[in-house]
Amino acid sequence: MYDIIIIGAGPAGLSAAIYACRANKKVLLLEALTYGGQIINTNKIVNYPGISEISGVDFATNLYEQAINLGAEIKFDRAISIDTKELSVTTNHDTYKTRAIILAMGVANKKTGLENEDKFIGKGLSYCATCDGNFYKGKDVCVYGWEDNALEEALYLSEMCHKVYVINKTSEFKNKDLELKLKEKDNIHFILNSDIKSIVGENAIDFIEVIDKSGNITNLDISGLFIALGKVPENNNILKDIKTDDNGYVVAREDCHTNINHIYVAGDIRDKNLRQLTTACADGANAATMAIKEMR
Ligand SMILES: Cc1cc2nc3c(=O)[nH]c(=O)nc-3n(C[C@H](O)[C@H](O)[C@H](O)COP(=O)(O)OP(=O)(O)OC[C@H]3O[C@@H](n4cnc5c(N)ncnc54)[C@H](O)[C@@H]3O)c2cc1C
Repeated sequence: MYDIIIIGAGPAGLSAAIYACRANKKVLLLEALTYGGQIINTNKIVNYPGISEISGVDFATNLYEQAINLGAEIKFDRAISIDTKELSVTTNHDTYKTRAIILAMGVANKKTGLENEDKFIGKGLSYCATCDGNFYKGKDVCVYGWEDNALEEALYLSEMCHKVYVINKTSEFKNKDLELKLKEKDNIHFILNSDIKSIVGENAIDFIEVIDKSGNITNLDISGLFIALGKVPENNNILKDIKTDDNGYVVAREDCHTNINHIYVAGDIRDKNLRQLTTACADGANAATMAIKEMR
């Protein structure tokens, strides 16, 4: 029996583990992939108070080592469901009982739903220009999206790629300032009122088929396709009994208390305004403190 099971070893989960271990609690971290969460994808963090510059991997490793050295146990195993009455967590391999659960599963990339999407991940298809843009230096790429993050991705890629196409289903971009900045760039080309019909290639992307509002199809030769539709909370099975908002984020106030006793939420998966490291770590601290205070 654990005192606290934390699902997700990103900044929120690791911060929660540090606070729980320092209170002498028996902590299990469950991590589906690798420790550190989304931040391992960034080269440079310059906005974490007290650290003027650090790489994402170093930041995550420091947090991880701090939690493990304090006594947290980690299992690299995906949590697939929780029993909110019994307070147990089932993973791909086992079921673990606990006195409190902290949900810190973060967010995942929103997908297009195109048939071949998963097949091309890492073979021309990416969700992160900062992480993968450099692979496409001097090449032609395409950004699919219309929110601010799509325009930011395009701007970033325009500094290293030959041509950057931006596909938008409508003719509107919400962020007019960013749109203007992009229009000033010679190598950015907008493809408006259009959608991707299919991604074509064998072992890598050869081209994408683009369909316009009238049904005309054109082939766009690109080496890289960057999907920039934003992020979504996942883990539908785990969140079954937990109250979420219309977008799937777990509803909780600053004390990180969910609608179910002894179950708390921390980090990007919580319904909040700012999804950053500082707020993820703060949530982790709050969630662990509340879990300890209310432990049965
Ligand atoms: C490219 C990039 C650059 C960024 N740069 C900055 C920056 O410079 N400064 C800043 O403040 N913020 C930055 N952010 C945002 C920051 O990374 C996030 O706000 C932060 O990582 C959120 O932490 P989290 O622990 O809530 O979630 P995440 O980091 O998403 O971690 C969640 C973890 O849970 C795991 N998980 C999910 N489901 C399960 C499951 N069912 N079972 C077990 N484990 C599971 C995931 O594998 C993941 O490791 C950046 C984000 C990205 C993508």
